[in-house]
Amino acid sequence: MNSISIFDIFKIGIGPSSSHTLGPWKAALQFIDGLESHAISRIHVCLYGSLSKTGVGHATDKAVVLGLLGFDPKTMQTSQINSVIEEVKRTERIKVGGKEIEFKYDRDIIFKPNAHDLHPNTVKFVAISDTSLIKEEFYASVGGGFIESPHQNDEAEQRKLPFPIDKGEDLLKYTADNQCKISDVVLKNELSIRSEPEIKDKLETILETFLDCIFAGCSVDGVLPGGLNVVRRAKGICDKLLDGQQFDNREEWLAALKKAPKDFNSVNKWISCFALAVNEQNADMGRVVTSPTNGAAGVIPAVLMYYYLFCDFRSKDSIRRFLFTAGEIGCLFKKGATISAAVGGCQAEIGVSAAMAAGGLTEVLGGSPEQCLMAAEIAMEHHLGLTCDPVKGLVQIPCIERNTMGAMKAITAANLALEGKPKESKVSLDVAVKTMWEVSKNMSSKYKETAEGGLAVNIPVINPSC
Ligand code: SF4
Repeated sequence: MNSISIFDIFKIGIGPSSSHTLGPWKAALQFIDGLESHAISRIHVCLYGSLSKTGVGHATDKAVVLGLLGFDPKTMQTSQINSVIEEVKRTERIKVGGKEIEFKYDRDIIFKPNAHDLHPNTVKFVAISDTSLIKEEFYASVGGGFIESPHQNDEAEQRKLPFPIDKGEDLLKYTADNQCKISDVVLKNELSIRSEPEIKDKLETILETFLDCIFAGCSVDGVLPGGLNVVRRAKGICDKLLDGQQFDNREEWLAALKKAPKDFNSVNKWISCFALAVNEQNADMGRVVTSPTNGAAGVIPAVLMYYYLFCDFRSKDSIRRFLFTAGEIGCLFKKGATISAAVGGCQAEIGVSAAMAAGGLTEVLGGSPEQCLMAAEIAMEHHLGLTCDPVKGLVQIPCIERNTMGAMKAITAANLALEGKPKESKVSLDVAVKTMWEVSKNMSSKYKETAEGGLAVNIPVINPSC
């Protein structure tokens, strides 16, 4: 597992969920690979455990169909999604591997609420001909858009890195030996995987996606889909804070933001506005970057915007450093614990994203490697035990607001670490990772993305079965 790239953590995809939308979508794409040479007559899909219990709210059914149709979540026009799905439902046909076959939405997507032994998020695809089984494959969607199958792993291929990192203490050793920052070590590892221009290009795409997503979220109001009637709030907050300033495009909007008041309350509202914007887009099947998941996709962009607008932002290079450090902290949690809410609850999503953002922000604000890890530890320490209880199985309540809280905690954690003395700290990041994993194992399944506990069952105005 020591070969995870930060670009495995920051993936571009479509909302609302990395484990329930992006992962199953990628699994479907992997499944159809090679099927074109077979005479398939039918495909069916079984969604197990959490993918079944919160699958409709998380658009898992749509994701597997879009994957079977061969659409790429990185590039598909999000505005096309509903019409493509409606067409499949209407015609009861899909085209897989160049061949059109019958596909009845209600018959061929099967929801099995009991968890499969492989993982709480398991999906099975079966392709048959008129006479025999052609292919059957199980995939586990293990969080953050990562998938694994008994026959192959997704991105966790065994690359040999110059600086293998499993724990925070590995990072501290390399930075001390080389008298460098965490981001320097991460860059050297990335350079062993891909060229410098490719790294720059990928980082640029991530930043553009962050900005497009925030801008889109601040430009649209209305009600989110899914039946909860959650009203979008980012645009209203943004308009109020901009106090009538006009803009015609993203660049003019950014210029207006730069002139925004910088008193504490305004800054606090901006951070919330950016986090809400991303997660409102995510809830509406918009394009987001897993950071490390879709449900928690708003924390890192919100903290980056805080850095860009309200701190001593110098150059784009500092944003690269932020993302490298944040991404490596995400890798540490994936290796030592989990980034799947179906395994660890929301501490694995918002908790990890806050730890990542705290570490990244600390580095660009001049913190030492020890202070970066201290910030990540503080951020996680105060998310331990956080439940995943999405109302109606939608990534809306508490998810959207929860990103605002994650962003604020990340900034507080960074500031505490920047004023702190890591040598005096009693809790290391490695201990926080280990503790989070133990809490995950002890947490009731009611609080692991099943919508069977917490807020999901305590809002009387909502009928969970509708
Ligand atoms: S409660 Fe947290 S972990 Fe669960 S779906 Fe929402 S954001 Fe994700």
